[in-house]
Amino acid sequence: MKEFTFKTGGVYPEENKMTKDSPFVPLTPPAIAVIPLSQHIGAPNTPIIKVGDRVKIGQVIGSANAFVSAPVHATISGEVVAMELRPFPLGTKVQSVIIKNDFKEEWVGDLKGIKSLESSSKEDLIKNIRDKGIVGMGGATFPTAVKLSPPKDKVIDVVIANGAECEPYLTTDYRVMMEYSEKIINGLLIEMKITEAKHGIIAIETNKKDAVLLLEENVKKRRIDNIEVILVKTKYPQGGEKQLIKAVLGKEVPVGELPLEVGAIVQNVGTLKAVSEAVFEGKPLIERGVTVSGSAIKRPGNYTIRIGTTVTDIIQQTGGLTKKLRKLIFGGPMMGIAQSTLEVPVTKGTSGILFFGEEVLEMAPQDEMPCIRCSRCVDWCPIGLMPLLIDHAWRREDIKLTETLNATDCIECGVCSYVCPSKRHLTENVRNAKQKILKQRKIEAAKKAAFEKIKALKEKKAQEAEEKLGEGEKVNG
Ligand code: SF4
Ligand code: SF4
Repeated sequence: MKEFTFKTGGVYPEENKMTKDSPFVPLTPPAIAVIPLSQHIGAPNTPIIKVGDRVKIGQVIGSANAFVSAPVHATISGEVVAMELRPFPLGTKVQSVIIKNDFKEEWVGDLKGIKSLESSSKEDLIKNIRDKGIVGMGGATFPTAVKLSPPKDKVIDVVIANGAECEPYLTTDYRVMMEYSEKIINGLLIEMKITEAKHGIIAIETNKKDAVLLLEENVKKRRIDNIEVILVKTKYPQGGEKQLIKAVLGKEVPVGELPLEVGAIVQNVGTLKAVSEAVFEGKPLIERGVTVSGSAIKRPGNYTIRIGTTVTDIIQQTGGLTKKLRKLIFGGPMMGIAQSTLEVPVTKGTSGILFFGEEVLEMAPQDEMPCIRCSRCVDWCPIGLMPLLIDHAWRREDIKLTETLNATDCIECGVCSYVCPSKRHLTENVRNAKQKILKQRKIEAAKKAAFEKIKALKEKKAQEAEEKLGEGEKVNG
């Protein structure tokens, strides 16, 4: 079988998929759930319940009218005991709904899905996906219903199921493929119907050949002839949208553009499972598969965890820690975010939680040394950026130059820092530059909008004054 891959850059960090053979085990729902009201890219939700209310599982507790948004549901039944700012995996604090579990496990109503794909309209399917709060579960958390609603002039040829899972340690997607292959195919068929894509591709890295065989067998068994399962090389960041498209279709997504520009939509396999459950079972996104791993946790494994369960609960339910915890990461070691508190909850975007002990100090950022201009960071950057130059410009506070050097294209994969022999904090600085540029662009856009508004107001007033004057002249004349 042919192996596909992207050409520019990429690395092969040592794999540590110790939880590969651990099937999902459900954790007991937490006694207290901390459910953030903004778990997606886009407009935050506003609470539609109040302290003292009784809620049931699957009840919408936060929603927004904005197009780019996804509702948030109660993940346990019980009483809303508080609404306050709580720690969030991105290192910020987010308005959260705190629910005290009554352990009655009461659902808001009977879950109802569609009868068949053939008899459902595209609009019904999208509505189901939107109402059930589905977002990209590979970590991007982009609302799925929005991703499936491209502008009318864009033609989508192919939906790619992303089963690459290139982060060392993470095995969530692998387990989803091994345990829920039917649902992944259902999700893909649903998205192909919505987007009118003629083809579906399931792309899986070569280190998961059993998942390839299983999905291939299922596709064949169901006599689906427009879905193909393909192998992509085990290489980081093979699971990046743009890298996967380059590998699979040989197409380059233009700078600053989305995959739909080349007629493609990429969807994480876990998201496809959730899409299938939303559409066929009417199930909202109240829980997800999470890889719990690292040297400091007693029982590493894959667990199905209710959204809102805090790390403290997870440690308790997985047998505790084996050593002093020195580093806690949400996500994988390459792109994940280090946490400073155990009170942070699992959210829709949490694919893994890693616990490390003393030995992590060797992995900790070391003292930076001067750049020796070896060009490794340039050679290995999968986007073709020049991290050393962006880093220099950022240190000189030359934001204009970082923009010219396309810092906003950085996918924050961490490869440049990983390969730099001088241990320069490249990813961090490129990310900072990117955020600053995006922030400035937002401010500029807001200024422009305000200016246009004032201009329109002035013009309206001038016109009204002119009209009044005209009327006055008519009377006097
Ligand atoms: S973090 Fe950004 S700059 Fe560094 S290698 Fe990845 S894409 Fe390139
Ligand atoms: S890899 Fe490090 S040392 Fe080499 S050019 Fe890039 S920043 Fe400089």
